[in-house]
Amino acid sequence: MPEQEDGNKGVTIVGGGLVGSLLAVSLGQRGLRVHLHESRSDIRRAAGVSGGRSINLALSRRGREALRAVGLEDEVLSTAIPMRARMIHPLSGNQYSIPYGTKRDDCIYSVNRRALNELLLTKAEESPNISIHFESRLLQADLETNTLVFSDGATGKKTVQTEFVFGCDGAHSTVRRQMMRWGRLNYQQEYIQHGYRELTMPPTPSGDFAMEPNFLHIWPHHKFMMIALPNHDKSFTLTLLMPCSVFESIRNEYSLLAFFQAHFPHSINKIGVEHLYKDYFANPQGKMISVKCSPHFMAGNTLILGDAAHAVVPFYGQGMNAGFEDCLVLTECLTESGGELAAAAQLYQDNHWSDTHTICDLSMYNYIEMRSHVTSPLFLIRKRIDNA
Ligand code: FAD
Repeated sequence: MPEQEDGNKGVTIVGGGLVGSLLAVSLGQRGLRVHLHESRSDIRRAAGVSGGRSINLALSRRGREALRAVGLEDEVLSTAIPMRARMIHPLSGNQYSIPYGTKRDDCIYSVNRRALNELLLTKAEESPNISIHFESRLLQADLETNTLVFSDGATGKKTVQTEFVFGCDGAHSTVRRQMMRWGRLNYQQEYIQHGYRELTMPPTPSGDFAMEPNFLHIWPHHKFMMIALPNHDKSFTLTLLMPCSVFESIRNEYSLLAFFQAHFPHSINKIGVEHLYKDYFANPQGKMISVKCSPHFMAGNTLILGDAAHAVVPFYGQGMNAGFEDCLVLTECLTESGGELAAAAQLYQDNHWSDTHTICDLSMYNYIEMRSHVTSPLFLIRKRIDNA
């Protein structure tokens, strides 16, 4: 006999990453009884980096608006670092900046992924009508009967029944897979040829940033690219993006140093050779996937949001921001539909899914622009006109 997700209006969120935890806060504030199931253990009690992905993220206007709607924008920005422009580092070493806008407030922010996820989980937990279940992985979902099977402990399984399911379980979503089995869900995915690896640029010996902090630093070299975002401890997290075949060709310290001397020579002293060797060979190499699907709402009771519905390549810095916007749009739809979940989800589906496809396309376009166009004369002329 399946256990009931208790209370009136009990809804289930699958995935307690950035989007799932923000959605929990938002639905909790509307008075819904929420059960949040996260397959990992509680990241607030675990050592190391969350999820094995980017350490910091660029938070922009759409993400900020969603945080503002739940009263968390100021708290998040209080520990974020504003980035007012892109700082371009050409091979020549003559760096120059391209502002994000014309006003001082036109900036994006570097935020720590783990700290943001932890804050959202804590805020969710503070709400009396939200329960968080860690180490609870969705295994199966029957959309017909609203029955969900989760892993429970090392070997056990738990079956629950719920009123409504929100799939926020990331790019490889189990909820989405169950939707594909149930109905006519169109689905498209693409792995790009580039992979990424994270490196660290530590603070200087005097404890300062090794580069100017209020910039998103970019070393655009067509086939290869490196970006850097500032951290609160005055380090930078660098992300090296290049074709997987190039990563595979760098097998030892000698070839790594030769590669950096050829392509990113001015960064070597700032990173430090020993640091470079250590990070490069210790850190995992990530893959990048783009996912589009439709519809996002199915069976009158299941809606996917965030990467589960639209994973994007990270070149536009909008994956989390777009996922946060999903939460905001959904709450607006809930208001419009008088709190009726299925009606709100239908409204969301009708009005919002095409925006998420556009973000996927723009991210793919920026994959090309950030590597090449930011160095092209046409791009610079266009930016000067934009900024005039
Ligand atoms: P996820 O973060 O993937 O969270 C999904 C959660 O679901 C996880 O906690 C997972 O453990 C859990 N889960 C998975 N399966 C199950 C299951 N079966 N049962 C229960 N729980 C489950 N975005 C930006 O806006 N700005 C940036 O600067 C930026 N930089 C990026 C850099 C890199 C290198 C990468 C890879 C991505 C970047 N992104 C950026 C994108 C951003 O990381 C994602 O869009 C964002 O994490 C999506 O959040 P999510 O909650 O939808 O998915």
